[in-house]
Amino acid sequence: MATALVWFRNDLRLADNPALQAALDGGYTPVPVYIHAPSEHGEWAPGAASNAWLHRSLDALSGTLEERGSRLRLFVGPSLDTLETLVAATGAEAVFWNRRYEPALEQRDTRIKKALRQQGLHVESFNSALLLEPWTVSTKQGTPFRVFTPFWKAALAQWRIPACEAAPASLPSSDAGPAGVSLDALKLAPALDWDRAFWTHWQPGEAGAEDALEAFVEGALHAYADDRDRPDRIGTSRLSPHLHFGEIAAWRVVHTLEESRRAGTAAHIDTAIKELGWREFAHHLLHHFPETPASNFNPRFDGFDWTPPSRADLDAWRAGRTGVPIVDAGLRELWTTGWMHNRVRMIVGSYLTKHMRVHWRHGAEWFWDTLVDADLASNTLGWQWVAGTGADAAPYFRVFNPVTQAEKFDPDGAYIARWVPELAALPVPARSAPWRFPELLRDCAPDYPTHPIVDLAKGRDAALEAYRRQRERA
Ligand code: FAD
Repeated sequence: MATALVWFRNDLRLADNPALQAALDGGYTPVPVYIHAPSEHGEWAPGAASNAWLHRSLDALSGTLEERGSRLRLFVGPSLDTLETLVAATGAEAVFWNRRYEPALEQRDTRIKKALRQQGLHVESFNSALLLEPWTVSTKQGTPFRVFTPFWKAALAQWRIPACEAAPASLPSSDAGPAGVSLDALKLAPALDWDRAFWTHWQPGEAGAEDALEAFVEGALHAYADDRDRPDRIGTSRLSPHLHFGEIAAWRVVHTLEESRRAGTAAHIDTAIKELGWREFAHHLLHHFPETPASNFNPRFDGFDWTPPSRADLDAWRAGRTGVPIVDAGLRELWTTGWMHNRVRMIVGSYLTKHMRVHWRHGAEWFWDTLVDADLASNTLGWQWVAGTGADAAPYFRVFNPVTQAEKFDPDGAYIARWVPELAALPVPARSAPWRFPELLRDCAPDYPTHPIVDLAKGRDAALEAYRRQRERA
């Protein structure tokens, strides 16, 4: 049997894996390979929390391959050199992979495809990650979309998502070529076990992704449209890291949601699929505007009067010690679990970019290092949306009030009490704005900041004033 390399990347699953399926359909013995080459990601090499997740996800993939008679070979080094060495050592005639959309990786993959084809190999890449690849949707004029609603309307009108394919029950194996290095040699797992608490919340890998989807369909989906903004409840799917690492196909999520469509769930299913649409839109924008992880989508903000952050203020924000409880709760949830609720991501982002007037890049970089779902497309969209500098963004003048946000979306103060436990002894009305109750704060939470690092009214006024100056200049 001829051999094909199957180059695993962010598609760490066996079900719904077009590259693996192509190798099998072509009659090849697949040689599954993962190459660790962080420098090829340009400025956005995966952060520490992503690496911690990746370590476990590769371990899980390795296990499922072995159960089926195959094995995952791990390598460290430049991708093209490694693939060429493997082709020579295994006698592979073909190389298959699933596409990635980060600008640096798109360029790298184009180079690799060309080089390998010039050597006479059969090389093919596939979509495993998206419902619609970024270049397949465009306006009537053939230009990329910049606004979500028309993008989503066009996407819904044209998508033909693939049927689900079960994981192969068994796989042929090949012993030819090098065995690769151990998982530990990739040095992905943290040397100090600061990620210990993550794993009470998450199970990286394909089985964990399927469990998360099942739990969502049986539970939170039934109230998704109402509860998705409630950080005090399990109101969302928590599929984001699984989707980012390709442990589950987005189209499997859609099919599974559709299968559970019945009276009472339709509105929730439509809302959940629309949220997946934001992930698609994020990839569309990143592909067509590849400079946006580093620069404002809206160039009018290029001269904006951001405040150079003091080390102390940035540290207070990162550590969840700003003195604004809902902001601190979100940042501590992030630090402890590697994830933060979407509503709270917006609140912490607004406090940083508006009240503190710190450039969104600082927030995006912190999230990049600490989120287990850190994703260049979605993180860029999220931060530019929050900062008002994005394509389809919250206008800069719309400044979230973190107290009213907390009162509305965490009405019992349960989320705050969970992540900022020193405030749990305060009565509910005091939890969202403890500085208004100085005596209670002193008695119940003497270690908590007595005031926000940036006063809410003053910060808002200064942000609006900076926005006014920027509009005058534009
Ligand atoms: P659910 O509500 O269950 O949604 C299902 C899926 O839809 C998610 O898993 C996700 O893949 C997708 N999705 C939902 N909302 C969005 C959105 N607004 N943008 C893009 N995709 C969405 N998401 C990431 O996956 N990675 C990031 O790095 C990231 N950074 C963000 C930064 C900021 C400042 C903000 C405001 C949002 C960011 N998001 C990011 C989007 C969103 O917060 C997460 O996708 C969501 O919280 C994941 O939780 P969930 O899986 O329970 O979502």
